[in-house]
Amino acid sequence: MGELERIVDDCRALVEDPSYPAVRRWLADHPGGKVLGHFQVYFPEELAHAAGMLPVKIMGAGSTVQIRQADARIAAFVCSIVRSSLELALSGRLDFLSLFVIPSICDAVRNACGVWVRNFPQFPTRVLYFPQNAASAHAVDYLAGEYARLVRLIEETTGQPVTAERLAASIAVFNENRRLLRELYRIKRETPWLLSALEAYVLTRAGGVMPREEHNALLRRVLELVGQRPAKRQDRIRVVFEGGYCEQPPLDMLAVIQDACYIVDDDLLIGLRWLVDDVATDGDPLANLAWAYLNASSYSPVQHDPRKPRAEMLLRRLRAAGADAAIVAAPKMCEPGLEEQVHYTRTLEAAGIPYLVLEFEETMTTFEQVGIQVETFAESLLFEFA
Ligand code: SF4
Repeated sequence: MGELERIVDDCRALVEDPSYPAVRRWLADHPGGKVLGHFQVYFPEELAHAAGMLPVKIMGAGSTVQIRQADARIAAFVCSIVRSSLELALSGRLDFLSLFVIPSICDAVRNACGVWVRNFPQFPTRVLYFPQNAASAHAVDYLAGEYARLVRLIEETTGQPVTAERLAASIAVFNENRRLLRELYRIKRETPWLLSALEAYVLTRAGGVMPREEHNALLRRVLELVGQRPAKRQDRIRVVFEGGYCEQPPLDMLAVIQDACYIVDDDLLIGLRWLVDDVATDGDPLANLAWAYLNASSYSPVQHDPRKPRAEMLLRRLRAAGADAAIVAAPKMCEPGLEEQVHYTRTLEAAGIPYLVLEFEETMTTFEQVGIQVETFAESLLFEFA
């Protein structure tokens, strides 16, 4: 096994381990260190980093944890990521949290916030309210104010002042991370035979649970190694996978899809890639972060911005990736995702772009059906394009 494969394997092991080994390692190296957990989709991790905290993305447990206690506290018809994240906390696996932030992405998480507040009095849980109207002239000021409110809480939690200089230094670290991720995705788009979607996914996801400086070093090495791969282009259709912005599809589901197609772009873990350009490091850092969230960002079903019609954004993603087709997926029980699926498919149909609709749940363990669907879809297109 080569060095690149070893790195990918290590990242996979890291992201599949519900005991958060990288976080515990960081705590062992930083006695007294504090961890800020944040739920999907996007959180400006620079706010925590600037106070010396480790920001950690909490995004469910996949099929690694059985829901035992969460179902007694939250309705069983709520999506899996909300229930399994709560289970992680109730079972003590998130005992490292000093603060938990839930962005106001949907009704399910807004309601879950109260459950977290009642069940975990040992750390504050707060909602980050993003602007309802992202196109409003007041949205940047409003959001910068929301960030300032969280900064005060972070300062209280850590006893560390979050100065403009510290924030600017943190923004620079995360700018570098976003740049490296953009490069990873460029390779996947342009030469998907050199880097599979699953590899890119676990490499990206590892950043959500480890210090970002460490992740930057890891990505730099990966980018060096990936160009040296001897892999050859294969005759496969090129698809965009849409629907992975919040609850994550199981890794084996991605593996089954990539067995039949090249996934040349996707919205998996879009929160880690939400800001599509460097954030300015001069001027007011909170205003800069707020501006970037609203004006230099990707799209998802949980952000409402009339300047970014989502179906049109999907078409742009398909064109930019040179994709032949789309896989339009949605997590079970996810109202925003399932609703968007309808808009996406109508638009794709009108544009004459082939698509396959899939539904998933993070806890899925059998993929035979998905495999047959994807294979049939890919083969029919290969035949059509031949
Ligand atoms: S999967 Fe959908 S319903 Fe569940 S938390 Fe995410 S956006 Fe909300």
